[in-house]
Amino acid sequence: MSPVPGIGSRVVVDRHGFGAILEALVETGHELLGPTVRDGAIVLDRLRGVDELPRGVGDEQAPGHYRLRERGDAALFGYAASPHSYKRDLLPPRVPLVQIRRSADGGLSVAAPPPPARKIAYIGARGCELAAIAVQDRVLRDGAHADADYRARRDGVFVLAVHCGAPAGTCFCVSMDTGPRARGGYDLGATEVLDGEHRFVIDIASEAGQAIVERVVCRAAEPGDVAAAEQVISAAAGQMGRTMPTAGLRDLLLGNLEHPRWQMVADRCLGCANCTMACPTCFCTNIDDTTDLSGETAIRSRRWDSCFTADFAYVHGGSVRPSLRARYRQWLTHKLASWHDQFGTSGCVGCGRCITWCPVGIDITEEVAAIAATRGPGAESPRS
Ligand code: SF4
Ligand code: SF4
Repeated sequence: MSPVPGIGSRVVVDRHGFGAILEALVETGHELLGPTVRDGAIVLDRLRGVDELPRGVGDEQAPGHYRLRERGDAALFGYAASPHSYKRDLLPPRVPLVQIRRSADGGLSVAAPPPPARKIAYIGARGCELAAIAVQDRVLRDGAHADADYRARRDGVFVLAVHCGAPAGTCFCVSMDTGPRARGGYDLGATEVLDGEHRFVIDIASEAGQAIVERVVCRAAEPGDVAAAEQVISAAAGQMGRTMPTAGLRDLLLGNLEHPRWQMVADRCLGCANCTMACPTCFCTNIDDTTDLSGETAIRSRRWDSCFTADFAYVHGGSVRPSLRARYRQWLTHKLASWHDQFGTSGCVGCGRCITWCPVGIDITEEVAAIAATRGPGAESPRS
């Protein structure tokens, strides 16, 4: 057994040691949720161990473009944001809320499914992912109307973060101050170093993290390890594919609600809602009631919805945002401007998913830059 490393200290493990950390998590009752290759993409799925991580696999991302590529090395975390985010686990696309059954005596039984009981560890979460979880926590865990299902899923999640060393062409976490170094919200924070000796420099950030590290063979990080890890993170910060001009952004956007750029982007936008489905912070949902064919069982479910759909903004008498121009503007100004007023932070963490997964390659940073370049007249009503 290794000497007990303390919170705030750093240790080093090789690939086998990293695998031992995953095994220790499993031995202590955790399910592992982390990246793996499936269907030509890196997705988040249940893992059994280190061999299911995407070894030697990288990605290429550009507006409307995602491809995996061979890296030519043994990196386990050599890729950027995947199409999935941890939103799929904390706020699943569809959650049954209540089930109503007709009983034999003609009465009705009503049951609400209990929140899931599980112990889970997120493997490889990046700084942008953890910032996105913090955004959702403000609303769904800590807000005035906390969501019981979200809270049950969120409580006790163990996070083994990986500080990012491989940003994509659509990333801009440096602009949003969310990465490439994870800012917090993790138990263990690993940096993958590939400079000849493949190793992981791991900072221990919590008692839970310390308890896991105590179960594996590791060594204390030396100054050379720490310097190599810092080099990985600073190199990643210098490789951002995009930037977002955040200075004065709230006022810029809210002062340009009638800018002609909104119509230009609406002319390209399909209203498909891909951007909001892929976005790790978007949390709009709707409620569906369905019955089985016999009419014996009815289920009320919550499912993801989007401000890009026409129905989402329908209130009695019609839609408050009938045009794509209004819907795109609502999404972008909420993310980058009015979110600050509501939640004291930006709603965007700079992960770039909305750019990569937009089928027509609409780029949030390009739209903001276009408005910043040609500042229009003052704010008017956002409803049109
Ligand atoms: S708006 Fe786009 S870049 Fe920002 S968090 Fe959402 S998906 Fe990521
Ligand atoms: S911006 Fe792109 S992804 Fe979002 S709704 Fe429009 S076409 Fe779809």
